[in-house]
Amino acid sequence: MGDSRVSRRSLFGVAAALGLAGQSAAQPGRVWPNGARAAVSLTYDDGLNSQLDNAVPELKRLGMKATFFLTGANVDWRVADWEALARDGNEVANHTMTHPCALAGYTAGRLAHSEIGLMEGYLAHAHFGADRERTFAYPCGYLGVGHGDRRARYARYRRVLERDGVVAARTTAGGPNRPEEAAIDPLHLHGFEPTDEADVVGPALRYLNATVAQGGWAILVFHEVLPKCRGDGDASIATHNKILAHIAALDVWCAPMDQAFDYVQSRFRKPA
Ligand SMILES: [Zn+2]
Repeated sequence: MGDSRVSRRSLFGVAAALGLAGQSAAQPGRVWPNGARAAVSLTYDDGLNSQLDNAVPELKRLGMKATFFLTGANVDWRVADWEALARDGNEVANHTMTHPCALAGYTAGRLAHSEIGLMEGYLAHAHFGADRERTFAYPCGYLGVGHGDRRARYARYRRVLERDGVVAARTTAGGPNRPEEAAIDPLHLHGFEPTDEADVVGPALRYLNATVAQGGWAILVFHEVLPKCRGDGDASIATHNKILAHIAALDVWCAPMDQAFDYVQSRFRKPA
């Protein structure tokens, strides 16, 4: 033990002397497929037509695959288009039937049945295949069901997801995901809404650069992608495309959430 510690220190000393310390410090981040420095998942919420019309063309042009969290209330308008996206290697996943944000009035049973289970049945059996991995995005990033203190409400929500076979769930808060933490707590994956406060690229670039510096996993959350930003949370096509161009220029592995999650589980989950 003592010997190996000494020898590692000595090696570090040699590396520092040769000016390699920065380089060796960056190496732990290269744990992603193809030696990439970080992972990025692009997620699009609510099954919005503007995503099909304005985001998907740029994703295709750049060869990027993404995750689309659909709600039953929206998906029917253009279900053939969503099916085509899934056939093309994108992930289509569960964002509930009616997108309830406040769940204080819900019981676990009602949420499980009428929102998550019903939507899963729609996705799995009617359109997108029962072999899909069950992933989920919390509507409005709200993490509690029913009454009681915060922990009890969140524990209730997690039990619903676990019983329904959901393997990974995304919130709308938090910094870059550390893969070791994501592997341990996959029902609390951090998501970042880059245009939540303004239709500008700066927050996305800072978040992505921080993710690369940490060797982490970025999960970006988009809603409407419109020719011009109309309200809170919208992204203009110009801002959306600049963010994607930045990602394309980074040394990152870009993959839908289910694929990135599978990789995290296989690479970082410690044996029980
Ligand atoms: Zn939503």
